[in-house]
Parts: sequence; C-alpha cells; structure tokens
Amino acid sequence: MEERIEKTIQALNRHRFKAEFVASKDQAAKLILERIPRAARVGIPGSRTVRELGLDRALRERGNVTYDHWLQGLSKADILKMRKAQLTCDALLTSANAVTETGEILNMDGVGNRIAPTIFGPPKVIFVIGINKLTPDLAAARTRIMNLAAPRRASELDLEVPCVKTGECNDCNSPDRVCRAELVLHRAPSLTEIEVYIVGEDLGN
Ligand code: SF4
Repeated sequence: MEERIEKTIQALNRHRFKAEFVASKDQAAKLILERIPRAARVGIPGSRTVRELGLDRALRERGNVTYDHWLQGLSKADILKMRKAQLTCDALLTSANAVTETGEILNMDGVGNRIAPTIFGPPKVIFVIGINKLTPDLAAARTRIMNLAAPRRASELDLEVPCVKTGECNDCNSPDRVCRAELVLHRAPSLTEIEVYIVGEDLGN
C-alpha cells in the first residue's frame, strides 16, 4: 500500500473512524454489500462514486429499501421526501469531496442532505472514497474542493457559475452556487458509527 494511503487510514482510525483500504471498486462493492443488512433502509444522497460502484442498483435488486433522490422520474415532492428520508435511514451510503492524510473527511453541499446525516441521524454512515480524493491536509482538501470537485459538479449540472468557464472558484454569489455548506468531520461524531473505505482507484469528481 502506498505510504500516503497508509498514513490516511491510520489517521482516520486514530480519529475514531473505522477505515480500511480496498484495492478495487469491485472488491469494495462486494464488501459493502456484505456489511449492509438486507433489512436496512439505505439512504443514498448525491454521490457519483456510489453509483460508479453500482451499489444503488445492487441494493435495490436484492431487496433493500433505498432512499435515492437521483432515481429517474421522481416528482419534486418525491425528491424532497427522499432527501428527508436520508436523514433517518438505517445506513447512509455516501462519498466525500476530500479526505486528508491528517485524518479529516470533507464535504461541500448545496442542499445539505448529503452532509447533515453524516453528523447525526442514521446510526451507521459508510463513506466510499477513491484515491483521487486523498489530500495532504485541510488546506489542500479545500483547494481540491473549490478548484476541482465543485467546478466539475457545476459543469455536469450545466450551471451558470463562473468556475464552469474558468475551472477556478471565485467565491461567487450566483443563485446557482453549489458550494453553500462545508462540513469537516474532525472525529467520528459520538453517536454515529462511521466506516470509511478508501478504494485504490479514481472515483467520482
Ligand atoms: S463558489 Fe461558485 S465559483 Fe466557486 S466553486 Fe462554488 S459554484 Fe464555482
């Protein structure tokens, strides 16, 4: 295992997360499916990584109830219902915008349903994080989010924000701004069990 990955996992475990390395996304998907009970109601907020592992589909196919607001054909009211259900599900399955070698997990959010339940609500939260999200420290993590992850996401959504054209954040005040709330998990919150799978492949933005 690369030294920076080992360092990250050790730091996360010191910070009361349950972190481990998994070499490939297929291995990660298999392991995560084994560790989520079939009876669990699983919240899946906006995460490209989770969909790249095929976990949304696999969970539904084997009978888990999922709260997935990216499902096609949902009405505005249903999307809101899904987002709210993610706050009270049995297990939340998500990713992060950055993870640091010093043991912090960072996420930026527009609505808030991706970050809120990672603090409190679901008793178990599972983060699946590709190695492209590893950064040395908090400053580098924030740079990654504002100059890479957020502009890419804004571009995918075809939003009218400056970073879509320049590829760099200018701390815009656009009505379309995707970066509205930032969460740094310095330690696993005291009433939430947090598993972190660092996957040896690039995943998500
Ligand atoms: S604050 Fe605005 S310009 Fe900066 S990354 Fe977010 S959406 Fe783009």
